[in-house]
Amino acid sequence: MQAIDTLTPCPCGNDAGYARCCGLLHEGGVATTAEQLMRSRYSAYVLKREDYLLATWHDSTRPAHLKLAAQQPAPTWLGLTVKRHETSGDQAVVEFVARLRYGGGKAQRMHEISRFVREGGRWFYVDGEFPGKVD
Ligand SMILES: [Zn+2]
Repeated sequence: MQAIDTLTPCPCGNDAGYARCCGLLHEGGVATTAEQLMRSRYSAYVLKREDYLLATWHDSTRPAHLKLAAQQPAPTWLGLTVKRHETSGDQAVVEFVARLRYGGGKAQRMHEISRFVREGGRWFYVDGEFPGKVD
């Protein structure tokens, strides 16, 4: 945790810093909203926390593995903007734009509308729609 404690702002963009934001969830904390979970999953992609991504993926759609470390060209995550968060009971939708670059390529935007469900008091990522390029 020591090296990671210096991550300010948090990879998800929170000025409070990683240790007070997504780090709490990565270390076992429970996300109270789907947006929090979504942010912590974005940070997990940044930090290649594949274990966390799989643990927060609903078992109906969860892949066997992600092989983030083997991804070529490797993505560099540049930032996250949450555009919408709607919760209805134990279902939620979070729309966001993540910016990233593959290898030395130019920055691009990934626009996703993610679905989440809450089971046993925990939010899980189910799947996402990609409404097309926004740039
Ligand atoms: Zn965060």
